[in-house]
Amino acid sequence: MFHVMAKPTGAICNLDCKYCFFLSKESLYPGSPYRMGPDVQETYIRQVLAAAHGAPSVTIAWQGGEPTLMGLDFFRRALELTRKYVTPGTAVEHTFQTNGTLLDDEWCRFFADNRILAGLSLDGPKDIHDTYRVDKGGQPTFDKVMRAARRLQAAGAEFNILCTVHAANGDRPLDVYRFFRDVVKAKYLQFIPIVEGPPVTERSVKPEQWGRFLNAIFDEWIRKDVGTIYVQHFDSALACWHGAGAALCIHQETCGQAMALMPNGDVYSCDHYVDPEYFLGNIMREDLTQIATQPKQIAFGNGKRDGLPKYCLECNVRFACHGECPKSRFLTTPDGEVGLNYLCAGHKLYFNHIDKPMRMMSALIRQGRHAGEVMGLLVEQERQKKMGMPTRARAAWDRPR
Ligand code: SF4
Ligand code: SF4
Repeated sequence: MFHVMAKPTGAICNLDCKYCFFLSKESLYPGSPYRMGPDVQETYIRQVLAAAHGAPSVTIAWQGGEPTLMGLDFFRRALELTRKYVTPGTAVEHTFQTNGTLLDDEWCRFFADNRILAGLSLDGPKDIHDTYRVDKGGQPTFDKVMRAARRLQAAGAEFNILCTVHAANGDRPLDVYRFFRDVVKAKYLQFIPIVEGPPVTERSVKPEQWGRFLNAIFDEWIRKDVGTIYVQHFDSALACWHGAGAALCIHQETCGQAMALMPNGDVYSCDHYVDPEYFLGNIMREDLTQIATQPKQIAFGNGKRDGLPKYCLECNVRFACHGECPKSRFLTTPDGEVGLNYLCAGHKLYFNHIDKPMRMMSALIRQGRHAGEVMGLLVEQERQKKMGMPTRARAAWDRPR
């Protein structure tokens, strides 16, 4: 089943985050009001729910730009339309990515009452967050986002933190992680590397820095927080080690299941490929299922696998990495082949680092135990090592994958 990220305000946002790749997309639609009309909204929901017919669940995702600029009534209507078109037996989840600056109590109650999972963009403590996440006047936004987090919590709404990783926080993984866990008291975390280029900007995270960032957070999480803090990268990797394939599109073998929908109904191959070359069709003229399954989009998705350089094909962590996202494959491999992912060195560091604990968790799950037991096992192993005790017999996780 495909997935669509609807952008009801297109590229329009009330902030001016310095690394945002989407603001420039405004130029694709000169003179457009950049507001999704009621007809496009209804067609989108009707088509998504028709495509999901018979499926146990479907997600309707709202993104930006900044979707709160549409006003609450737009989303109240989205829920009414969902009730109108959903087929019995299909659970519908609405998700909502926001910068949080416009969230008042009414918005937060709306999320809580309708069990809408809000994604809140926050890059870490104030000094980090305000480095790049500023409003149109260049003013900091941290205080507003923290107010939104508190309001969401007071209303009882679930939210996940979306944190981009870049030059300002790349060397401070534990400051960032502990701030989210201990100060914000967030349970769900998502980290996204900022890669701008080529040529790569100063703001971008460096390859090894990305690997070290994830590793430091992983080391804290695997000892203290498994089962209480959910880090999307770690959950996705565990699924891989468990043989299910990554949950994150960037680490899946092929992609093309996550298209972007613009306010006028135009659909593109992916959020990162909103460009004329990747235009797939318009839902006011064609059906979303036809758009999603056309050869052009299938080729786009398979291109992620088919374009891998030999260096990746021979890599020991390819099963978990899969060359990451094609948009960042602009390096040349040591043997001169084009198409290596810019973050490759970081991916290698990360996936090799987490191998053993991931095997341990996967083995625990297979035994019908809780993955969180890994925390006690690691503490015990470290205690034994410190005391110079002999290594215990080989365990399930010591076997090759
Ligand atoms: S192009 Fe990148 S972001 Fe888009 S679906 Fe493929 S892997 Fe995901
Ligand atoms: S770690 Fe590097 S070589 Fe290995 S699959 Fe990922 S990008 Fe390719």
